[in-house]
Amino acid sequence: MRQQHSVPTPSFRKLFWNAVRSVTTPSCAGCHAPNTAFCEDCLASLTFLTSNVCYQCGLPLDQKNSKRCRLCEKHGFGVDHLWAATGFGGSMQALIHAFKYENQRSLALELVPILQRAWPENLPENAVLVPVPLAKARYKARGYNQSELLAVQLGAATTTKVDVTSLRRTRDTSAQAGKTASERRQNMQAAFACTPQAFQESTVILVDDVCTTGATLEACASACRAGGAETVWATTVARAI
Ligand SMILES: [Zn+2]
Ligand SMILES: [Zn+2]
Repeated sequence: MRQQHSVPTPSFRKLFWNAVRSVTTPSCAGCHAPNTAFCEDCLASLTFLTSNVCYQCGLPLDQKNSKRCRLCEKHGFGVDHLWAATGFGGSMQALIHAFKYENQRSLALELVPILQRAWPENLPENAVLVPVPLAKARYKARGYNQSELLAVQLGAATTTKVDVTSLRRTRDTSAQAGKTASERRQNMQAAFACTPQAFQESTVILVDDVCTTGATLEACASACRAGGAETVWATTVARAI
């Protein structure tokens, strides 16, 4: 009797993306100009947040000669220091959308140099980059965590240590509708967990693509403190203003 051999077939996902790649030439994620991943005009249109911003939350300051904004002075902020490279909108919003939702992972190579424009001259020796984790189901559906891609690329570009395993997401917080503000905060706080003592004697620098209200970063920071971190900073490519 002849033996049957099964022929290995490439996955549907692989075939699909190969087909997409074969019919598309690279075009600007911001304006679709040809032969560039992100064009000079789109880069020039970004609002950089490199000066006169709040040391703690990264928002533009409305008063001069102050380190922190009025909101941080009054209510505090769960992250000790946050810096973002640009405002969130226009071509930056399109760039992040393509990076996050259109499987254009190589756009990390465009985003990291933009983030580096706001990079501090010196980081503490004990600095460790920690990407904001995705919930498992989300990771499975997307196939990658965009924040992890950024952190790894950023770590290589700035020779900073990266830890992608100690901070985990224990639940998906996307369905927050119908909850009060304090319920949302509680739900968010419980969404992250950290390996005990993982960050003892470290300065954690959380990495994410965009910061909107800061609630996710605050919840991550609190988990990192539970994991031994004394100081938690955060950096994002973009900041909603
Ligand atoms: Zn463009
Ligand atoms: Zn502030």
